[in-house]
Amino acid sequence: MGGGEQKYVQEAFDTNWVAPLGPNVNGFEKDLENYIEESSKVACLSSGTSALHLALILAKVSKDDEVICQSMTFSASANPIVYQGATPVFVDSEKETWNMCPKSLLEAIEDGISKGNKPKAVIVVHLYGMPAKMDEILAITNKYNITLIEDAAEALGSAYKGKKCGTFGDFGILSFNGNKIITTSGGGALVCKSDDDKQKAIFLATQARDNAPHYQHSHIGYNYRMSNITAGIGRGQMEVLDKHISYRRNNNEFYKDIFSNIEGVEVFKEPSTDYFSNHWLSAIVVDKSVTGFSREDLRLSLLEDNIESRPLWKPMHMQPVFKDCSYYGTSVSEELFENGLCLPSGSNLTEEDKERIKRSINKLINK
Ligand SMILES: *Cc1c(COP(=O)(O)O)cnc(C)c1O
Repeated sequence: MGGGEQKYVQEAFDTNWVAPLGPNVNGFEKDLENYIEESSKVACLSSGTSALHLALILAKVSKDDEVICQSMTFSASANPIVYQGATPVFVDSEKETWNMCPKSLLEAIEDGISKGNKPKAVIVVHLYGMPAKMDEILAITNKYNITLIEDAAEALGSAYKGKKCGTFGDFGILSFNGNKIITTSGGGALVCKSDDDKQKAIFLATQARDNAPHYQHSHIGYNYRMSNITAGIGRGQMEVLDKHISYRRNNNEFYKDIFSNIEGVEVFKEPSTDYFSNHWLSAIVVDKSVTGFSREDLRLSLLEDNIESRPLWKPMHMQPVFKDCSYYGTSVSEELFENGLCLPSGSNLTEEDKERIKRSINKLINK
Protein backbone atom coordinates (compact mmCIF):
# COMPACT_ATOMS: atom_id res chain seq x y z
CA MET A 1 0.00 0.00 0.00
CA GLY A 2 1.16 3.51 -0.76
CA GLY A 3 -0.55 5.46 2.03
CA GLY A 4 -3.25 7.30 0.06
CA GLU A 5 -5.62 4.34 0.11
CA GLN A 6 -6.94 4.89 3.64
CA LYS A 7 -8.07 8.42 2.85
CA TYR A 8 -10.44 7.17 0.13
CA VAL A 9 -11.66 4.26 2.26
CA GLN A 10 -12.27 6.65 5.20
CA GLU A 11 -14.23 8.94 2.86
CA ALA A 12 -16.44 5.99 1.89
CA PHE A 13 -17.17 5.29 5.58
CA ASP A 14 -17.68 8.96 6.45
CA THR A 15 -20.22 9.42 3.65
CA ASN A 16 -21.79 5.95 4.19
CA TRP A 17 -21.03 4.88 0.62
CA VAL A 18 -20.56 1.22 1.59
CA ALA A 19 -22.09 -0.36 -1.50
CA PRO A 20 -21.13 -1.76 -4.90
CA LEU A 21 -21.37 1.74 -6.35
CA GLY A 22 -20.39 5.26 -5.32
CA PRO A 23 -17.87 8.06 -5.79
CA ASN A 24 -14.79 5.83 -5.43
CA VAL A 25 -16.02 3.42 -8.12
CA ASN A 26 -16.66 6.33 -10.50
CA GLY A 27 -13.35 7.94 -9.50
CA PHE A 28 -11.32 4.75 -9.96
CA GLU A 29 -12.87 4.23 -13.40
CA LYS A 30 -11.93 7.80 -14.38
CA ASP A 31 -8.38 7.33 -13.03
CA LEU A 32 -7.96 4.15 -15.09
CA GLU A 33 -9.34 5.79 -18.24
CA ASN A 34 -6.97 8.73 -17.81
CA TYR A 35 -4.09 6.35 -17.25
CA ILE A 36 -4.55 3.88 -20.10
CA GLU A 37 -6.32 5.93 -22.78
CA GLU A 38 -8.82 8.71 -22.33
CA SER A 39 -11.17 7.44 -25.02
CA SER A 40 -11.47 4.02 -23.29
CA LYS A 41 -14.52 3.26 -21.17
CA VAL A 42 -13.69 1.32 -18.02
CA ALA A 43 -16.14 -0.64 -15.84
CA CYS A 44 -14.78 -1.70 -12.43
CA LEU A 45 -15.78 -5.22 -11.44
CA SER A 46 -15.27 -7.79 -8.70
CA SER A 47 -12.39 -9.57 -10.50
CA GLY A 48 -10.46 -9.94 -13.70
CA THR A 49 -12.20 -13.27 -14.21
CA SER A 50 -15.64 -11.64 -14.08
CA ALA A 51 -14.41 -9.02 -16.58
CA LEU A 52 -13.41 -11.82 -18.98
CA HIS A 53 -16.75 -13.50 -18.48
CA LEU A 54 -18.64 -10.29 -19.34
CA ALA A 55 -16.38 -9.67 -22.36
CA LEU A 56 -17.34 -13.10 -23.71
CA ILE A 57 -21.04 -12.39 -23.11
CA LEU A 58 -20.77 -9.03 -24.89
CA ALA A 59 -18.98 -10.84 -27.74
CA LYS A 60 -22.09 -13.07 -27.88
CA VAL A 61 -20.15 -16.25 -27.12
CA SER A 62 -22.58 -19.03 -26.30
CA LYS A 63 -23.01 -22.78 -26.21
CA ASP A 64 -21.13 -24.75 -28.91
CA ASP A 65 -19.04 -21.74 -29.96
CA GLU A 66 -15.28 -22.07 -30.12
CA VAL A 67 -13.03 -19.46 -28.55
CA ILE A 68 -9.30 -19.34 -29.25
CA CYS A 69 -7.12 -18.73 -26.19
CA GLN A 70 -3.40 -18.48 -25.61
CA SER A 71 -2.32 -21.77 -24.00
CA MET A 72 0.55 -20.30 -21.98
CA THR A 73 -1.43 -18.41 -19.34
CA PHE A 74 -3.14 -18.62 -15.98
CA SER A 75 -6.33 -20.72 -15.96
CA ALA A 76 -8.55 -17.67 -15.37
CA SER A 77 -7.99 -16.66 -19.02
CA ALA A 78 -9.74 -19.84 -20.20
CA ASN A 79 -12.28 -20.75 -17.50
CA PRO A 80 -14.90 -18.14 -18.51
CA ILE A 81 -15.08 -19.72 -21.99
CA VAL A 82 -16.42 -22.83 -20.28
CA TYR A 83 -18.80 -20.76 -18.09
CA GLN A 84 -20.48 -19.81 -21.37
CA GLY A 85 -20.79 -23.44 -22.47
CA ALA A 86 -18.30 -22.73 -25.27
CA THR A 87 -15.16 -24.72 -26.12
CA PRO A 88 -11.62 -23.40 -25.70
CA VAL A 89 -9.16 -23.94 -28.54
CA PHE A 90 -5.58 -23.42 -27.39
CA VAL A 91 -2.77 -21.80 -29.33
CA ASP A 92 1.00 -21.94 -28.75
CA SER A 93 3.31 -19.03 -27.94
CA GLU A 94 6.19 -17.58 -29.95
CA LYS A 95 9.67 -17.37 -28.45
CA GLU A 96 10.12 -13.60 -28.31
CA THR A 97 7.26 -12.43 -26.08
CA TRP A 98 6.08 -15.87 -24.88
CA ASN A 99 2.59 -14.79 -25.98
CA MET A 100 0.20 -15.96 -28.69
CA CYS A 101 2.00 -17.08 -31.86
CA PRO A 102 0.38 -15.29 -34.84
CA LYS A 103 1.16 -18.22 -37.16
CA SER A 104 -0.54 -20.76 -34.91
CA LEU A 105 -3.46 -18.36 -34.42
CA LEU A 106 -3.96 -18.13 -38.18
CA GLU A 107 -3.79 -21.91 -38.47
CA ALA A 108 -6.42 -22.35 -35.73
CA ILE A 109 -8.79 -19.83 -37.34
CA GLU A 110 -8.47 -21.28 -40.84
CA ASP A 111 -8.93 -24.82 -39.56
CA GLY A 112 -12.05 -23.76 -37.62
CA ILE A 113 -13.49 -22.07 -40.71
CA SER A 114 -12.75 -25.12 -42.90
CA LYS A 115 -14.70 -27.25 -40.42
CA GLY A 116 -17.65 -24.85 -40.55
CA ASN A 117 -17.09 -23.49 -37.03
CA LYS A 118 -15.52 -20.06 -37.24
CA PRO A 119 -14.07 -19.09 -33.83
CA LYS A 120 -16.26 -16.54 -32.07
CA ALA A 121 -13.49 -14.70 -30.20
CA VAL A 122 -9.75 -14.69 -29.54
CA ILE A 123 -8.21 -14.18 -26.09
CA VAL A 124 -4.63 -12.91 -26.20
CA VAL A 125 -2.62 -12.52 -22.97
CA HIS A 126 0.26 -10.16 -22.09
CA LEU A 127 2.10 -12.66 -19.94
CA TYR A 128 4.14 -11.39 -16.98
CA GLY A 129 3.51 -7.87 -18.31
CA MET A 130 5.10 -8.46 -21.72
CA PRO A 131 3.00 -7.08 -24.61
CA ALA A 132 2.04 -9.65 -27.24
CA LYS A 133 2.74 -9.08 -30.97
CA MET A 134 -0.33 -6.89 -31.34
CA ASP A 135 0.20 -5.69 -34.93
CA GLU A 136 0.32 -9.25 -36.26
CA ILE A 137 -2.54 -10.49 -34.08
CA LEU A 138 -4.82 -7.53 -34.86
CA ALA A 139 -4.13 -7.95 -38.60
CA ILE A 140 -5.46 -11.51 -38.35
CA THR A 141 -8.52 -10.87 -36.13
CA ASN A 142 -9.44 -7.84 -38.27
CA LYS A 143 -9.08 -9.78 -41.51
CA TYR A 144 -11.40 -12.53 -40.26
CA ASN A 145 -13.61 -10.12 -38.33
CA ILE A 146 -13.29 -11.96 -35.01
CA THR A 147 -13.71 -10.24 -31.63
CA LEU A 148 -10.37 -9.76 -29.86
CA ILE A 149 -10.26 -9.86 -26.06
CA GLU A 150 -7.05 -8.74 -24.44
CA ASP A 151 -6.19 -10.27 -21.08
CA ALA A 152 -4.04 -7.50 -19.60
CA ALA A 153 -4.47 -8.78 -16.01
CA GLU A 154 -0.71 -8.81 -15.57
CA ALA A 155 0.09 -5.87 -17.82
CA LEU A 156 -1.33 -2.65 -16.37
CA GLY A 157 1.11 0.06 -17.46
CA SER A 158 2.74 -2.04 -20.19
CA ALA A 159 2.66 -0.66 -23.74
CA TYR A 160 3.24 -1.70 -27.34
CA LYS A 161 4.47 1.02 -29.72
CA GLY A 162 3.48 3.58 -27.09
CA LYS A 163 -0.12 2.37 -26.73
CA LYS A 164 -1.15 0.85 -23.40
CA CYS A 165 -2.02 -2.83 -23.08
CA GLY A 166 -5.74 -3.37 -22.63
CA THR A 167 -6.68 -0.80 -25.28
CA PHE A 168 -5.97 -2.84 -28.45
CA GLY A 169 -8.79 -5.37 -28.43
CA ASP A 170 -12.55 -4.95 -28.73
CA PHE A 171 -12.36 -5.60 -24.98
CA GLY A 172 -9.52 -5.56 -22.49
CA ILE A 173 -9.47 -6.85 -18.95
CA LEU A 174 -7.45 -5.80 -15.91
CA SER A 175 -7.01 -7.45 -12.51
CA PHE A 176 -6.36 -5.95 -9.09
CA ASN A 177 -6.03 -9.26 -7.31
CA GLY A 178 -3.63 -9.43 -4.35
CA ASN A 179 -0.66 -10.55 -6.45
CA LYS A 180 -0.94 -8.00 -9.28
CA ILE A 181 1.07 -4.82 -9.87
CA ILE A 182 -1.54 -2.79 -8.01
CA THR A 183 -4.15 -4.41 -5.84
CA THR A 184 -7.50 -3.73 -4.24
CA SER A 185 -7.23 -7.13 -2.46
CA GLY A 186 -9.57 -8.48 -5.13
CA GLY A 187 -11.02 -6.69 -8.13
CA GLY A 188 -10.85 -6.20 -11.86
CA ALA A 189 -12.00 -4.04 -14.73
CA LEU A 190 -13.39 -4.35 -18.23
CA VAL A 191 -11.99 -1.91 -20.78
CA CYS A 192 -14.51 -1.12 -23.54
CA LYS A 193 -14.29 0.84 -26.79
CA SER A 194 -17.74 2.43 -26.38
CA ASP A 195 -19.85 3.75 -23.53
CA ASP A 196 -22.66 1.56 -24.84
CA ASP A 197 -20.61 -1.59 -24.14
CA LYS A 198 -19.62 -0.25 -20.73
CA GLN A 199 -23.27 0.36 -19.79
CA LYS A 200 -24.21 -3.14 -20.99
CA ALA A 201 -21.42 -4.59 -18.83
CA ILE A 202 -22.59 -2.66 -15.76
CA PHE A 203 -26.18 -3.75 -16.40
CA LEU A 204 -25.16 -7.44 -16.46
CA ALA A 205 -22.82 -6.94 -13.48
CA THR A 206 -25.63 -5.54 -11.32
CA GLN A 207 -28.15 -8.38 -11.71
CA ALA A 208 -29.56 -7.18 -15.06
CA ARG A 209 -32.34 -5.09 -13.59
CA ASP A 210 -34.61 -3.61 -16.23
CA ASN A 211 -35.76 -0.03 -15.89
CA ALA A 212 -38.92 -0.43 -13.76
CA PRO A 213 -40.08 0.54 -10.24
CA HIS A 214 -40.29 -3.16 -9.26
CA TYR A 215 -37.63 -5.81 -9.88
CA GLN A 216 -38.01 -6.71 -13.53
CA HIS A 217 -35.60 -8.97 -15.44
CA SER A 218 -35.37 -9.98 -19.08
CA HIS A 219 -31.75 -11.22 -18.94
CA ILE A 220 -29.70 -13.46 -16.64
CA GLY A 221 -27.61 -11.14 -14.48
CA TYR A 222 -24.50 -11.39 -12.34
CA ASN A 223 -23.25 -9.83 -9.12
CA TYR A 224 -19.92 -8.65 -10.52
CA ARG A 225 -19.69 -4.94 -9.63
CA MET A 226 -16.83 -3.53 -7.55
CA SER A 227 -17.45 -2.29 -4.00
CA ASN A 228 -16.96 1.41 -3.24
CA ILE A 229 -14.56 0.42 -0.41
CA THR A 230 -12.41 -1.66 -2.72
CA ALA A 231 -12.43 1.12 -5.33
CA GLY A 232 -11.10 3.49 -2.64
CA ILE A 233 -8.05 1.26 -2.27
CA GLY A 234 -7.72 1.30 -6.06
CA ARG A 235 -7.72 5.10 -6.21
CA GLY A 236 -4.90 5.18 -3.66
CA GLN A 237 -3.00 2.50 -5.57
CA MET A 238 -3.16 4.53 -8.79
CA GLU A 239 -0.94 7.08 -7.03
CA VAL A 240 1.85 4.48 -6.67
CA LEU A 241 1.38 2.53 -9.91
CA ASP A 242 4.26 4.15 -11.79
CA LYS A 243 6.51 3.69 -8.77
CA HIS A 244 5.61 -0.01 -8.64
CA ILE A 245 6.40 -0.34 -12.35
CA SER A 246 9.82 1.22 -11.85
CA TYR A 247 10.54 -1.16 -8.93
CA ARG A 248 9.56 -4.16 -11.02
CA ARG A 249 11.62 -2.97 -13.96
CA ASN A 250 14.56 -2.52 -11.58
CA ASN A 251 14.11 -6.12 -10.45
CA ASN A 252 14.41 -7.17 -14.09
CA GLU A 253 17.65 -5.19 -14.44
CA PHE A 254 18.92 -6.82 -11.25
CA TYR A 255 18.41 -10.30 -12.73
CA LYS A 256 19.87 -9.28 -16.11
CA ASP A 257 22.94 -8.17 -14.21
CA ILE A 258 23.24 -11.40 -12.18
CA PHE A 259 22.94 -13.61 -15.25
CA SER A 260 24.81 -11.38 -17.73
CA ASN A 261 27.88 -13.62 -17.74
CA ILE A 262 26.10 -16.94 -17.32
CA GLU A 263 25.90 -18.90 -20.55
CA GLY A 264 22.63 -20.80 -20.91
CA VAL A 265 20.40 -18.53 -18.82
CA GLU A 266 18.12 -16.06 -20.65
CA VAL A 267 16.38 -13.35 -18.63
CA PHE A 268 12.94 -12.56 -20.11
CA LYS A 269 13.24 -9.15 -21.76
CA GLU A 270 11.61 -6.93 -24.37
CA PRO A 271 12.46 -8.05 -27.94
CA SER A 272 12.78 -4.40 -29.12
CA THR A 273 11.98 -0.83 -28.12
CA ASP A 274 8.45 -1.36 -29.53
CA TYR A 275 7.73 -3.21 -26.29
CA PHE A 276 7.47 -1.72 -22.80
CA SER A 277 6.86 -4.34 -20.12
CA ASN A 278 5.89 -3.49 -16.54
CA HIS A 279 7.94 -6.63 -15.71
CA TRP A 280 5.28 -7.69 -13.23
CA LEU A 281 7.23 -10.92 -12.84
CA SER A 282 10.84 -11.44 -13.81
CA ALA A 283 11.58 -14.86 -15.26
CA ILE A 284 14.42 -16.84 -16.78
CA VAL A 285 14.82 -19.80 -19.10
CA VAL A 286 17.57 -22.28 -18.22
CA ASP A 287 19.30 -24.42 -20.85
CA LYS A 288 20.62 -27.31 -18.77
CA SER A 289 22.84 -28.62 -21.57
CA VAL A 290 24.85 -25.40 -21.22
CA THR A 291 24.54 -24.53 -17.52
CA GLY A 292 24.79 -28.03 -16.07
CA PHE A 293 21.84 -27.26 -13.79
CA SER A 294 18.11 -27.30 -14.57
CA ARG A 295 15.48 -24.76 -13.62
CA GLU A 296 14.28 -27.29 -11.01
CA ASP A 297 17.82 -27.49 -9.53
CA LEU A 298 17.74 -23.70 -9.22
CA ARG A 299 14.24 -23.67 -7.74
CA LEU A 300 15.17 -26.24 -5.08
CA SER A 301 18.47 -24.52 -4.35
CA LEU A 302 16.65 -21.21 -3.74
CA LEU A 303 14.09 -23.01 -1.60
CA GLU A 304 16.89 -24.35 0.63
CA ASP A 305 17.61 -20.70 1.41
CA ASN A 306 13.91 -20.04 2.02
CA ILE A 307 13.51 -18.09 -1.25
CA GLU A 308 10.34 -18.83 -3.22
CA SER A 309 10.39 -19.11 -7.00
CA ARG A 310 7.93 -20.87 -9.33
CA PRO A 311 7.92 -22.61 -12.72
CA LEU A 312 6.28 -20.57 -15.51
CA TRP A 313 2.53 -21.06 -16.05
CA LYS A 314 1.78 -24.61 -17.10
CA PRO A 315 0.15 -24.36 -20.55
CA MET A 316 -3.61 -24.93 -20.61
CA HIS A 317 -3.41 -27.69 -23.23
CA MET A 318 -1.29 -29.68 -20.73
CA GLN A 319 -3.83 -29.24 -17.89
CA PRO A 320 -5.95 -32.26 -16.98
CA VAL A 321 -9.13 -30.15 -17.02
CA PHE A 322 -8.55 -29.11 -20.66
CA LYS A 323 -7.06 -32.38 -21.95
CA ASP A 324 -9.78 -32.86 -24.60
CA CYS A 325 -9.39 -29.39 -26.14
CA SER A 326 -7.70 -28.76 -29.50
CA TYR A 327 -4.24 -27.24 -29.62
CA TYR A 328 -2.42 -25.50 -32.48
CA GLY A 329 1.32 -24.98 -32.53
CA THR A 330 4.55 -26.74 -31.72
CA SER A 331 6.30 -27.13 -28.39
CA VAL A 332 7.30 -23.54 -27.55
CA SER A 333 4.99 -23.21 -24.54
CA GLU A 334 5.83 -26.74 -23.36
CA GLU A 335 9.54 -25.97 -23.43
CA LEU A 336 9.01 -22.68 -21.61
CA PHE A 337 7.16 -24.56 -18.88
CA GLU A 338 9.90 -27.19 -18.73
CA ASN A 339 12.81 -24.74 -18.50
CA GLY A 340 11.36 -21.48 -17.20
CA LEU A 341 11.36 -20.06 -13.69
CA CYS A 342 9.68 -16.98 -12.18
CA LEU A 343 12.01 -15.27 -9.70
CA PRO A 344 11.16 -13.11 -6.67
CA SER A 345 9.66 -9.95 -8.18
CA GLY A 346 7.79 -8.00 -5.51
CA SER A 347 7.64 -4.20 -5.64
CA ASN A 348 8.95 -4.26 -2.07
CA LEU A 349 12.17 -6.28 -2.54
CA THR A 350 14.84 -4.55 -0.45
CA GLU A 351 18.55 -4.29 -1.27
CA GLU A 352 19.07 -6.81 1.51
CA ASP A 353 16.59 -9.23 -0.12
CA LYS A 354 18.38 -8.82 -3.43
CA GLU A 355 21.76 -9.53 -1.86
CA ARG A 356 20.35 -12.71 -0.35
CA ILE A 357 18.87 -13.80 -3.72
CA LYS A 358 22.13 -13.05 -5.51
CA ARG A 359 24.18 -15.03 -2.97
CA SER A 360 21.83 -17.99 -3.27
CA ILE A 361 21.91 -18.00 -7.09
CA ASN A 362 25.69 -17.67 -7.17
CA LYS A 363 26.01 -20.54 -4.72
CA LEU A 364 24.48 -22.90 -7.33
CA ILE A 365 26.28 -21.32 -10.29
CA ASN A 366 29.69 -21.66 -8.62
CA LYS A 367 29.08 -25.23 -7.48
C1 LIG B 1 -4.82 -12.80 -12.36
C2 LIG B 1 -5.16 -13.17 -13.73
C3 LIG B 1 -6.49 -13.27 -14.17
C4 LIG B 1 -7.67 -13.22 -13.26
O1 LIG B 1 -7.81 -12.08 -12.51
P1 LIG B 1 -8.61 -12.17 -11.10
O2 LIG B 1 -8.78 -10.73 -10.75
O3 LIG B 1 -7.71 -12.89 -10.15
O4 LIG B 1 -9.89 -12.86 -11.35
C5 LIG B 1 -6.72 -13.52 -15.51
N1 LIG B 1 -5.72 -13.69 -16.37
C6 LIG B 1 -4.43 -13.63 -15.99
C7 LIG B 1 -3.37 -13.81 -17.03
C8 LIG B 1 -4.11 -13.39 -14.66
O5 LIG B 1 -2.83 -13.36 -14.28
